[in-house]
Amino acid sequence: MQNASQNTAQNASQNTPPAPPFSPVSHAGRAGLAAFAAEKLARLQAQKRARTFKPLSRAEPPYVVHAGRRVVSFACNDYLGLTAAPALRQAARAAIDAGTGAGASRLVTGDTDAQHALERELAALKGSEAALVFGSGYLANLGTIPALVGPGDRVVLDALSHACMWAGARMSGAEIVPFAHNDAADLARILADDAASRHAGHTLVMTEGVFSMDGDRAPLPAIAAACAAHGAWLLVDDAHGFGVLGGGKGTAHAFDPPVHVPLAIGTFSKASGGYGGYLCADAVVIELLKSRARPVVYSTALPPAVIAANLAGVRAIAADPARGAIPCGHATRFAAALGLERPDACIVPVVLGTPERALEAQAALLEAGHWITAIRPPTVPDGTSRLRVAFSAVHTDAQVDALIDAVRPLLKGQP
Ligand SMILES: *Cc1c(COP(=O)(O)O)cnc(C)c1O
Repeated sequence: MQNASQNTAQNASQNTPPAPPFSPVSHAGRAGLAAFAAEKLARLQAQKRARTFKPLSRAEPPYVVHAGRRVVSFACNDYLGLTAAPALRQAARAAIDAGTGAGASRLVTGDTDAQHALERELAALKGSEAALVFGSGYLANLGTIPALVGPGDRVVLDALSHACMWAGARMSGAEIVPFAHNDAADLARILADDAASRHAGHTLVMTEGVFSMDGDRAPLPAIAAACAAHGAWLLVDDAHGFGVLGGGKGTAHAFDPPVHVPLAIGTFSKASGGYGGYLCADAVVIELLKSRARPVVYSTALPPAVIAANLAGVRAIAADPARGAIPCGHATRFAAALGLERPDACIVPVVLGTPERALEAQAALLEAGHWITAIRPPTVPDGTSRLRVAFSAVHTDAQVDALIDAVRPLLKGQP
């Protein structure tokens, strides 16, 4: 269970350099608050865990401009290159003429025909009865999980699940039981124990379709079978599979036969090229969520231009189901050339170990014209700091070749 709280920013572990102790001084008042922040920041810096923003401007994908220099990004989740697609830009531009903000939540004045068209067409693409749009993928998890389970229930989730799935599970007040990453047998064992004990509440099982930091795919047929055998509900957050796998419909549709996922969460911010999150489910579940998902009830609806871009993104995915195979092909070729494990989607982790090594590799690659982000704990487990390489349909073969040549020397001296 070493990975049980990865992504949570809360698991200090034995492998981390020791942080200086907090001073015993008072943190009262404005000066105290500043002293508290400075100390806490110094601890993060000593652990090489401090994050900094890096200002970029986005150019025509896959380029970004950093410090006046155009470099090729292998860090964006813009897997299909849709963020710059004329159809999406045009849709957003047209919508903005009607105003920039939604004005209120969906339940007040923020509900529009375009939102309904988006939900209808998304549900049709995903083969679901209905859909509900959220402010982001993060909010989709925070809204959905506590609306369905609470104290007395259980959430059983893959240990490497995204931070927002853990956050939603914690907010729900349900008991949280992680299962070993992508291990359907471990899940089945936990669910069987669960059934044997006097546990009376509901059980919600959660995993990702494609894991954001490892690029591997969940064994959904086995996971769904375990859920069916024990009467558990299944939620899959397919942030990185939607638009890419299964003809764009997502990871569940990449299996034969496709896997039925009763609670299918995802985002419009990655392959779809826009912004916002969604839940696809049966109509009665969506109807309940309209009353019970707090980020829907108590937060302003997405702006019209964003909704319009999302609708154009969904249409682009539906119109070109084969496009996701392009970034996956780049990923497969990149991994094969470097002797890395064959990826399941278009994300390839290059695990380097220490945060220092990952940061040095990031700097060397930037020097060579490639923008790639080093991923460090607590986003990934200790000792697995890495480069996360994400491929897009708009990368050229020559760009992928140049990256292979630049990464090869960084792998020298690997155990
Ligand atoms: C990126 C991601 C999210 C967050 O989605 P946003 O729309 O960016 O908030 C949620 N879940 C998973 C698994 C992700 O990878």
